[in-house]
Amino acid sequence: MAAKLQAPRGTFDVLPEDGERRTALRESADALLGLAGYAPFETPVFEDTEVFARGVGQSTDIVQKEMFTFEDKGGRSLTLRPEGTAGACRAYVEHGMHKLPQPVKLRYWGPFFRHEAPQAGRYRQFNQIGAEALGSDDPSLDAELILLLAELLEEAEVDCRLRLSSLGNADTRAAYGEELRTYLRSRQDQLSDDVRGRIDANPLRAFDSDHAGTKAVMVEAPLLLDRLDSEDAEHFAEVRAFLDDAEQEYDLDPTLVRGLDYYTRTVFEFESPALGAQSGVGGGGRYDGLVAQLGGPATPGVGWAAGIERILLAGSPGGELALPVAYVAVTDADQRRTAFKITEALRGQGVQAQMEQAGRSMKGQLKHADRLNATHVVVVGEQIEVKDMDTGEQRPVADINELLTRVAL
Ligand code: ATP
Ligand code: MG
Repeated sequence: MAAKLQAPRGTFDVLPEDGERRTALRESADALLGLAGYAPFETPVFEDTEVFARGVGQSTDIVQKEMFTFEDKGGRSLTLRPEGTAGACRAYVEHGMHKLPQPVKLRYWGPFFRHEAPQAGRYRQFNQIGAEALGSDDPSLDAELILLLAELLEEAEVDCRLRLSSLGNADTRAAYGEELRTYLRSRQDQLSDDVRGRIDANPLRAFDSDHAGTKAVMVEAPLLLDRLDSEDAEHFAEVRAFLDDAEQEYDLDPTLVRGLDYYTRTVFEFESPALGAQSGVGGGGRYDGLVAQLGGPATPGVGWAAGIERILLAGSPGGELALPVAYVAVTDADQRRTAFKITEALRGQGVQAQMEQAGRSMKGQLKHADRLNATHVVVVGEQIEVKDMDTGEQRPVADINELLTRVAL
């Protein structure tokens, strides 16, 4: 016997029941983002490696450890996309979208790839839904996007909290980085080895540490949020005012560090305690330097991405019931062509219809109709009868019109 094959490590199949939940989530997301003017948008699942090396940032875990990178037959280095924002900015530049009325609002849904240790809620191929607004630094966009993600998660019944902060601009961040390094060095004997080793490369990571000594040091550490210049501080105050007006709750968290280099000003993350260690459901922020970094004109942008699988693990989207079904049963094989035509006619009227397609006996067919939650069974024999599954009543129909009226819901 041939050996059984399995899906690659860290990947999964979507089976029909889960497929229904994903479709419900997608429909609710499309409706919500569509109402706010975010248009459907797609990029390839692989890009020149350069897009992510430049876009996501060389010092990030994503670029250093998590990318699926390969050479094509022409010797070009390609990478399966680990996130969506860099590709969206690449497309914005390539298609000259800065000439369109701004902001350009985009939404996407699709697979992303990161070479990580697989565990619950963490896969090597996962799916994200995302939204981006490019070409304006208006703080109402930051607030609008945060509220859209909050609403999406609420509709999907994901219980979560919102963490919010501002990272200022590249200059304030660089100056703050130096200040933090000096502070960390002054107390380095109290830090974990790991944090001490990263003082030069990434001092901000010290805020993420679980090490007791490090935590004690960080409680007294200087905060970037206290070092914002006046324009960035004003921008952040406006974002917060919009959120307050919308009665959106959030935890102001100056220690929020996101795993991508491109963020400036607003950053945020939604976390669900139901998810345990992989608590991040979705997050994002403003990236005012990214388009220029990818070779385009100076263009502000803001956006987020949320993990479909984590939303489905933590919530229960779209509690809608399955559509009612009409089941077309056949009493003898000669009638299969008539049954097929009736099934097509029912579908043409917008009724979900299934005909017998597995050679079942009449008894088996009625049992199957029950399993499918059929409201009506059309019995095709010498004559055609319709059985109402609620009342159990079964009566002949004179013609197809009567049949359609009796089955129509
Ligand atoms: P984490 O802290 O869990 O590593 P992240 O900060 O790397 O998340 P982002 O880059 O912000 O995540 O991606 C946005 C969302 O995509 C996450 O909040 C999460 O829901 C989802 N996500 C990220 N990586 C994975 C993965 N490997 N498997 C499943 N979902 C993921
Ligand atoms: Mg990660």
